Amino acid sequence: MAAALTMACTSDLSGLVRGKGFASSDLEKKLANGIGWTPTNAQITCFDTIAESPYGALGDLVLHPDPETLAQCSLPEERKMAFLLSDITELDGTPWECCTRSILKRTINRFTEVSGLELRTTFEHEFMLPGGPETRGFTLQGFNAAQPFAEALLTALGGAGIAPDSFLREYGPDQYEVTLPPKPALRAADEATALREITRATATAMGLAATFSPLIGPDVVGNGVHIHISLWTPDGKPVTHAPQAQDMLSEPASAFIAGILRHLNAVSALTAPSAVSALRLVPHKWSAAYNNLGAQDREAAIRICPLSAKEADGQARQFNFEFRAADAAASPYLALAALVAAGTIGIEEGLRAAPATQEDISLFGEDELAERGLRRLPDSLPAQLDAFGADSTLQSQFPERLPDIYIAHKTGEWVHLSDMNDAERFAKYRSTY
Ligand code: GLU
Ligand code: MG
Repeated sequence: MAAALTMACTSDLSGLVRGKGFASSDLEKKLANGIGWTPTNAQITCFDTIAESPYGALGDLVLHPDPETLAQCSLPEERKMAFLLSDITELDGTPWECCTRSILKRTINRFTEVSGLELRTTFEHEFMLPGGPETRGFTLQGFNAAQPFAEALLTALGGAGIAPDSFLREYGPDQYEVTLPPKPALRAADEATALREITRATATAMGLAATFSPLIGPDVVGNGVHIHISLWTPDGKPVTHAPQAQDMLSEPASAFIAGILRHLNAVSALTAPSAVSALRLVPHKWSAAYNNLGAQDREAAIRICPLSAKEADGQARQFNFEFRAADAAASPYLALAALVAAGTIGIEEGLRAAPATQEDISLFGEDELAERGLRRLPDSLPAQLDAFGADSTLQSQFPERLPDIYIAHKTGEWVHLSDMNDAERFAKYRSTY
C-alpha cells in the first residue's frame, strides 16, 4: 500500500529539503497544476531563522513536482514515505531565480551550448550512524553490524528507483558511505537529494539518528560528498580520457577542471557552505585543502581517479575526475551547478589545467606554493562568501539576483551562530544535516 500523503519538495538554498504535502490520490491534479510556494521561504536558514529577504511577505510561486522523481518508499516498522522533487516557477511559468533545480538545469544547458557535450555525474556520500555497537573502519564486523540498516536502506531506495553502486563501513566513528552509479547530471543531483532524505528516514524509523554533517567535532574525520564527473558526446562517446595528453585529460576535461580550480574559492561557498565546512577542508583530513588537481591523491580538490579497466574502450568509459571539496550542507543542485558553471567558464576561455601534483603539498613552503599557483581554500564561511561576492565571472553564470540573495542567506546562518562556541556549533550542524 502506498503512503496516503505525498510531499512535493525542493532542495533549497540551505541544502535542506522543504515542501508541502497533499493527499496521494490528488497526485495527477498536483502534477497538472502545481502547489503554491512563498518566495521568502528561500531565506529560511538551516536553523529556521529568516535571513534578510528581498521579498518580504510579498509574492507567490508554484512548486511543480517532476513525475520522474516520484519516490514511494517502504521504510522499517511498516512506515511509508512518498515525495517528489520539484521545480519552482513564477505564476507565469518562468523558472524562479532561487530554484536550485532550475539553476542546475540552466547551467547544464549552457555547458552543452558552449561545449557540445553532456555530463555524467556520481555522488558519493559519507554519513554517520551513531547508536549501534562500536566497530572499526572497513571491518566485516562493522559491515555486519550495519547490515539491517543497509538492507532497509536498499529496500527504501528501490522505491525511488535508486540502486547504489556500493555501501561501506567508512573509516570514521560510526561512519558509512553510499556511492551511487554515474547518471546524467540532473538525475544524479535528484538521486543525491533523495538519497540523503531516504537515509535519514530509514535511520529514524529504526530509532537511529543519521548525520551527514560535514564535521561533528574537531578531531574526527569529516563526512564528505565527493562528486565524480565525466564528459560525453550526445551520442554516448566518452571524451574525458586522452591517453597521450598531460594527466590523460582531454582538452575539454582539462579546461573544465581548470575553470573549477580558478574559481574554487567562490565555488566552495556553494559546495561546502556551512560554518563547520572549512574546518573539514584542512590538510590531513583526506578531504581537500588547496586548489590542486592531484593524481590519485585523496587530499586534492580534484582527483584524477585510477583506471582498472584493461581495454582502451573500457578505460575511456571509466575515466573520470572527482571533486572533493563538497559536503552535504550544500544542495546537490547548487553544488553541481557551481562546478558546471565554473567548468563551462574554463571551456569557454580555453583554459588548461596545471599538471597534477604528485606530493603532499601541505609540506610546501610559501614560496613553492606561490611558484606553482597553489593556495589554501578559504578558512571560514565568511571568507568563502567574500570570495563568491568578489567573483563576478562566476556570479554571471547564475540568475542575476541569486548571488546576493544566497550570500544574505548564508550570512544569516553565520550570524545565528555568533554567540556559540565550537562545541555548540558542531552539535547544531550535527542535528541539522
Ligand atoms: N572522509 C573524507 C572526507 O571528508 C574522505 C575519505 C575518503 O577518501 O573516502 O572527504
Ligand atoms: Mg569515503
